[in-house]
Amino acid sequence: MTAAARLPLDRSSSLDEVRAVVADWVEATVPQAWRAAAPRGRAAIRAVRSRADYEAWYPAFADSGLVVATWPVAYGGLDLSAEQARAAEAVLAPYNLGRLNPLGLNSAAPALFAHGTEEQRLRFLPPLVRNEERWCQLLSEPGAGSDLASLATRAVRDGDEWVLTGQKVWTTWAHVSEFAICLVRTDPTAPKRKGLSYLIVDLHAPGVEVRALRHIGGEVDFNEVFLDEVRVPDAWRIGAVGDGWRVAGSTLAGERQMVSGSGSGGVDRIGGAGVDRLLERAAELGRTGDPALRQRLMRVYSEERIRRWTNDRVRATIRAGGTAGAASSIGKVHQGQLNQAIQLLAADLLGPGATGWEAEQSPPGPEAWAATLPLEVKGMLRSRANTIEGGTSEVNRNILAERVLGLPREPDPYQGAAWEDIPRS
Ligand SMILES: Cc1cc2nc3c(=O)[nH]c(=O)nc-3n(C[C@H](O)[C@H](O)[C@H](O)COP(=O)(O)OP(=O)(O)OC[C@H]3O[C@@H](n4cnc5c(N)ncnc54)[C@H](O)[C@@H]3O)c2cc1C
Repeated sequence: MTAAARLPLDRSSSLDEVRAVVADWVEATVPQAWRAAAPRGRAAIRAVRSRADYEAWYPAFADSGLVVATWPVAYGGLDLSAEQARAAEAVLAPYNLGRLNPLGLNSAAPALFAHGTEEQRLRFLPPLVRNEERWCQLLSEPGAGSDLASLATRAVRDGDEWVLTGQKVWTTWAHVSEFAICLVRTDPTAPKRKGLSYLIVDLHAPGVEVRALRHIGGEVDFNEVFLDEVRVPDAWRIGAVGDGWRVAGSTLAGERQMVSGSGSGGVDRIGGAGVDRLLERAAELGRTGDPALRQRLMRVYSEERIRRWTNDRVRATIRAGGTAGAASSIGKVHQGQLNQAIQLLAADLLGPGATGWEAEQSPPGPEAWAATLPLEVKGMLRSRANTIEGGTSEVNRNILAERVLGLPREPDPYQGAAWEDIPRS
């Protein structure tokens, strides 16, 4: 971040000053065509702004400090209060300036803030904010998803380094990331949650192999990651040896908030169009008088409002200095189901076009085939993962039952046993 580009704001700035400085910055820095499209909504902005344009422009956004306005200046922010940041955000909102690097912002950063060293924060946070170093998370394994604490990837200490061997899976964006947060087993003789540690892994280090997995919609955005004697400096351990489960807690709550839309990463919905688009589409088709359709539209419209209010409540708790904690599971469970209902309705509105569509020619290979899918069908297929990613709905209901409703914990016959003595799949 260049000091010259950082906005001249600090805790002493009045809310009016914040609004004026941010408005001037928008005028000077956001490209004219994007600003001109803003009054016509997000779709109009997207029509004049490609993903590549946005990524190329993004460092200017980061250098202003506005990407993470409440963070300390040394890490790329402006050290503003939550109220000042809200005032800035209100000025930015019409321009749809989403945050890039969502797993960096929502998974890696919370762990670094809560458990990292100052040296680690200064090294990793500024390039993360600028999207120069992108992040993913190496948590799930073939034999450890919902029961993440049973994971088997081993890290063995060798002088000032750890040597990692094992396999991770479903690693979103590993193929386009520089770094990963990684949960590893450092003590197999300890109970499963006690023998874990949390490391930062350089995905370009010798011994890391990333193999793409393809979605049902044909796209690649997650991977298998094989670790074969990968060396990680001990200076890149976040938290104490054996305390990885506690560190992972900040990462997982951050991820749940992100996936539910209540986090700070600007992710509102993973996969597909919003309810407003459905209403427009029903009107275009002249079907707003269809009673069965009206019923479905009304239902998703109302639930979408409820989702927003729930997320606003979680955000307000965070802004007031609290943590969303187990309550982020409410948004996670609701958002997963709701987005699936919305995307299914979007595909239904296509009628027969949802199952048979015009393609220029029969394309070779799944990627080319996927490119011909109607957007609504892509959104519908992608949304199937919403009740799995970031922890399944069933597991989040368990969290709610135990930690919010205070019901008895799930029985665990191996409670307190050494990890190496517990049978695993
Ligand atoms: C799109 C997508 C992106 C992902 N990205 C990442 C990523 O970037 N990094 C990463 O580490 N992981 C990632 N994951 C993995 C994800 O976290 C796991 O898929 C998820 O935690 C479930 O684990 P599993 O697939 O092993 O299923 P399992 O744990 O094998 O579960 C199978 C079924 O059993 C149910 N079940 C399991 N335990 C219980 C229980 N105690 N009570 C009730 N029901 C239970 C589950 O709900 C599920 O229906 C991603 C997954 C998806 C779909």
